[in-house]
Amino acid sequence: MISKKMKRFEDNSSAVRAMFEEGVKLREKYGAENVYDFSLGNPNVPAPEEVKEAIIDLLDSEKELVLHGYMNNAGFPDVREAIAQSINKRFGTSFTGRNIVMTVGAASGLCVVFRMILDTDDEVICFAPYFLEYDNYISNFDGKTVTVDPDTENFQLNLEDFESKITERTKAVILNNPNNPTGVVYTEETIKKLAAILEKKQAELGTVIYLVSDEPYRELAYDGVDVPYLTKYYANTIVGYSFSKVLSLPGERIGYIVIPDEADGAEELMSAAATAIRVTGAVNAPSLMQKVVAKCLDCSADLEYYDRNRRTLYEGLEKVGLTCIKPQGAFYMFVKSPVEDEKIFVAKAKEYNLLLVPGSAFACPGYVRLSYCVSYEMIKKSLPAFERLMENYK
Ligand code: PLP
Repeated sequence: MISKKMKRFEDNSSAVRAMFEEGVKLREKYGAENVYDFSLGNPNVPAPEEVKEAIIDLLDSEKELVLHGYMNNAGFPDVREAIAQSINKRFGTSFTGRNIVMTVGAASGLCVVFRMILDTDDEVICFAPYFLEYDNYISNFDGKTVTVDPDTENFQLNLEDFESKITERTKAVILNNPNNPTGVVYTEETIKKLAAILEKKQAELGTVIYLVSDEPYRELAYDGVDVPYLTKYYANTIVGYSFSKVLSLPGERIGYIVIPDEADGAEELMSAAATAIRVTGAVNAPSLMQKVVAKCLDCSADLEYYDRNRRTLYEGLEKVGLTCIKPQGAFYMFVKSPVEDEKIFVAKAKEYNLLLVPGSAFACPGYVRLSYCVSYEMIKKSLPAFERLMENYK
């Protein structure tokens, strides 16, 4: 018999599973080419050629026992150093390999962070709308999610509500930039205000509050927009990064966290992170993939493809009367539902073979999320279906 806690995870997963199964059913009934599935965040652009070349090269050149063996739980020292230097080159920071701990994607990185810092009933603040898996990562370690109301004007941060929700139990705040589900990029101005509030509250309460920067979409930014590197604005920042999206490697499970020297208790955190990845059962990040990403730090999948999708879908949706903040990052759009209960809209969309995700799955009802990491042809073909759907709301 499964535990009560597991039962809660299972119950919460059923909606996602149902949506997935719905997609399978529709594809069987109408044919895959006639179903417009905007529900998944699974990159559709292939991994860059350099990934394949790196794998072949490593299999030929590295000693097998090294390539497939255990290493320090924090990861291979040469890989960690290469990543530190790459970050320094791009963002003007001064990390070394000791600041980097390799993880099993961003999800594992977040679990490592929460394993390290959370005691029972410690609070972690999330800004709605947010990736709801955060709730699971937090409750895995007996923490509590505290949700900040969305700023539906522009989907930047509702800093007034944020400040009011910080208590002596606040251990961390998660920021996801560029954002899933809105595609919004938080500006430097927003980040500076957020950092000032955190500094003020830490001083007032005499506590340490970590800012956990969840960055799997860092390189997926369009129109030349700048995505601020948060360690430069707030000392107690821990960055969680992933290669899932930028290199189109979500199944390979590879990422890292950055613990800056300036962070409170940095030495202890660096040691604890290596222990945390061990005791949470991952033991270490996949060895071959560590070596592969170290060879591909200047590469990315074809981001132009997503950009073309973004522009085409945004213009197409606007034409049929759907509105959203024009996304500047990630591969998502958060569209206002034409009816208050967005689940009704999602059900109606399904009648036109359009699969969307309700905003309530991101703690923000009244909106729907569309993932545009799909084929360009599918987007073009889906636009008449959106038009027919919107006939219902004239
Ligand atoms: N954080 C956010 C905001 C995400 O959207 C995702 C995946 O979609 C993750 C974390 C997990 O990414 P990973 O595949 O690297 O574990």
